Amino acid sequence: MTATPASSFTMSLPDWLTAELPTLPQSIEGAEAQMALVNRLADRNWREGNGGPFAAIVVDASTGELVSVGVNVVLATGISSGHAEVMALGLAQTRVGTWDLGAERDLALVVNWRPCVQCYGATMWSGIRHLIVAGDGPELERLTGFDEGPMVPDWAAQFEARGISVTQDVGRADALAVYEAYGASSSTVYNARGAGRIEKD
Ligand SMILES: [Zn+2]
Repeated sequence: MTATPASSFTMSLPDWLTAELPTLPQSIEGAEAQMALVNRLADRNWREGNGGPFAAIVVDASTGELVSVGVNVVLATGISSGHAEVMALGLAQTRVGTWDLGAERDLALVVNWRPCVQCYGATMWSGIRHLIVAGDGPELERLTGFDEGPMVPDWAAQFEARGISVTQDVGRADALAVYEAYGASSSTVYNARGAGRIEKD
């Protein structure tokens, strides 16, 4: 802690992903192929020690153009809100040049599980028009020990009611494999609610 309050903070992609950005395809057609990239980045992210096993991308829903890429950077930045969805949405907004991702584009957020309670709001306020997730349900928390917060049971219906389409269970088996590998490792679970991992059932 420094002597005076901070005046800014920065959350950047890790070096390994920044280096990979020029090599990524400019467009990826189809939700399965888009999620395959997300699952691959999520797996590498925790192995690099950068944060949790989470990744997200923003794509153009009609052309497949890859607009942004995000991974969880909580451990690398020391900032608790640095989830993959927040990174992908913020970097997309930076690139598109507006806080409203639905203003001129038909964009989709592709992420390797249903958003946590923080990213539920961040996604809703981003203007994004589509949400594609690998899955929903207790498997993520059971396999990884992360607490996703008090999500409302009708989260998907709440998105749909606001004009955000929801597609579920894309690349689900691959997402679960990433969580299983993570859960079997000794990586840090950084929920502030307690010491280390929550109890697994
Ligand atoms: Zn989140």
